[in-house]
Amino acid sequence: MRRKAKEREKDLAKQRITRLLRLADEVYPSEPELGLRYGELARRLALRTKARIPEQWKWRYCRRCGSFLYPGISADIRTRDRRLPHLVIRCQLCGEMRRIPYLREKRAKRAASR
Ligand SMILES: [Zn+2]
Repeated sequence: MRRKAKEREKDLAKQRITRLLRLADEVYPSEPELGLRYGELARRLALRTKARIPEQWKWRYCRRCGSFLYPGISADIRTRDRRLPHLVIRCQLCGEMRRIPYLREKRAKRAASR
């Protein structure tokens, strides 16, 4: 019984996280600070409940400063085709660069089309 309740809690948390992230994306272009806050809330909720950030948004957090990134506003995204094709995501807030190979990974492809 207890376990089931936990699962349910996690499910609910996941829904809330998804909602927050969608909201974050929605408001980010007009209100970056608010977008950042929603992103942060989603992350904290994920940490607290141990629910996972959906794949689709996983790459959107800076590994160094943890900020929620929005391509074109708080993150620079470039594609590099030399050797292994990959995306280079640069966090505008702390300057951290991250490479994501995009041949094999679907979620990176999604990132490329943004
Ligand atoms: Zn950063």
